[in-house]
Amino acid sequence: MDKTWVWLPRNSLEYEEGAIKFVCDSVRSLGNPSAMFCPCIDCRNVCHQCSETVLEHLVIRGMDHKYKRSRCWSKHDEIRDAKTNDVQTSEHEAYDLIRTAFTANEFKHTT
Ligand SMILES: [Zn+2]
Repeated sequence: MDKTWVWLPRNSLEYEEGAIKFVCDSVRSLGNPSAMFCPCIDCRNVCHQCSETVLEHLVIRGMDHKYKRSRCWSKHDEIRDAKTNDVQTSEHEAYDLIRTAFTANEFKHTT
């Protein structure tokens, strides 16, 4: 997720565009919820707001300073170790595949 826009002045067009993109991306990755955590300085990811309100808060109030500096926006479905999770999944899939092939062979032998 692009985080550079949070450091731009809030009255700039780039900031607004970044905020819109952030809200849209979050809505999409969270599965279009009716409300989500608002990362503004007042809600601080504690209050749930609808996407329009989140956008409004980000533009009017600005993002919470701690969340701004956070490398991972976990509250908005950014997974910290996406790479590690991928490896684990594919390993598990490979294991299942091998096991299925193995048990299928065994089945043939016994009949
Ligand atoms: Zn808010």
